[in-house]
Amino acid sequence: MKACLLRAPAPVETNPLEFADAPDPRPGKGEILLRVKMCGVCRTDLHVVEGELPPRKSPVIPGHQIVGVVERLGEGAKRFQPGARVGIAWLHRTDRTCEYCRAGMENLCDSPTFTGYSVDGGYAEYAVAPEDFVYPIPEEFPDDQAAPLLCAGIIGFRSLRLSGIKRGGRLAFYGFGAAAHVAIQVARHWGAEVYACTRGAKHRQLALQLGAVWAGEASAEPPAKLDAAIIFAPAGELVPAALKALKKGGVLVLGGIHMSPIPSFDYNLLYQERVIRSVANNTRQDGEDFLRVAAEIPVRTQVTVFPLREANRALNDLKSDRINGAAVLDCTR
Ligand SMILES: [Zn+2]
Ligand SMILES: [Zn+2]
Repeated sequence: MKACLLRAPAPVETNPLEFADAPDPRPGKGEILLRVKMCGVCRTDLHVVEGELPPRKSPVIPGHQIVGVVERLGEGAKRFQPGARVGIAWLHRTDRTCEYCRAGMENLCDSPTFTGYSVDGGYAEYAVAPEDFVYPIPEEFPDDQAAPLLCAGIIGFRSLRLSGIKRGGRLAFYGFGAAAHVAIQVARHWGAEVYACTRGAKHRQLALQLGAVWAGEASAEPPAKLDAAIIFAPAGELVPAALKALKKGGVLVLGGIHMSPIPSFDYNLLYQERVIRSVANNTRQDGEDFLRVAAEIPVRTQVTVFPLREANRALNDLKSDRINGAAVLDCTR
């Protein structure tokens, strides 16, 4: 098959992904083989390619927002029929036995594997995954629209849940890329008032189009005190700015897998029971709940589609803020 291979991390400006032939993956016991249609491009892919996340496999095929069609079943796999349209997300497999898995917190599993990082992902014509970790894709969504739901959507949804935002509450997003442009639609559906702090006039414009009541610069102070804020941008310097915007008892959620160092700040910004918490991965329950809500709303994603062979260009555009909404690779061409 054709795939984009990362042999060693390097700045994306050097176009480190090699479009090449790779062995066709084979589905193992309980696994399914997917013919990939579309694969979303996530900021985490950028962290994998540039090495902010330490390499786990070489070469590795990145990509963890995979929409495809079941091509073949591994031994014992029976959950899906060939031809079914399904999605593979970041959480590829857990051990099911550690204390976190047993307590219903599989997102914190002690020995998980991750798609497009510790195992090969979807920047390719084919991919495999355990059938239990695969999601049926609601028919409301075309392939390209569905891809960004599988990480940007699910992680944004978990971030919203952890923010505790309620009907009538005020919520800000710091950074308005793929995750925020989906999360705002869910937050509005839940009746929250949304503020967007983000660099780039186009991102602010998209936020307003999607129903934000206000949009300002990345570290600007929203005009009202917030019940909750979610930082999607990987920029630690936003933490004090976001804390400053919170009401007493407000919650700040850090939605990214990587963040630059957080500067020290005065205890007063945190005092009065303000909370900072991170989001790590997601449970399958988060994914299933999100896809159901997304189909009900229905969520509309704004996507820019690139051919698979141009994955380097997609990553460069993402890094330099040239993508409004989400970038998606068409793995059929
Ligand atoms: Zn576990
Ligand atoms: Zn992701």
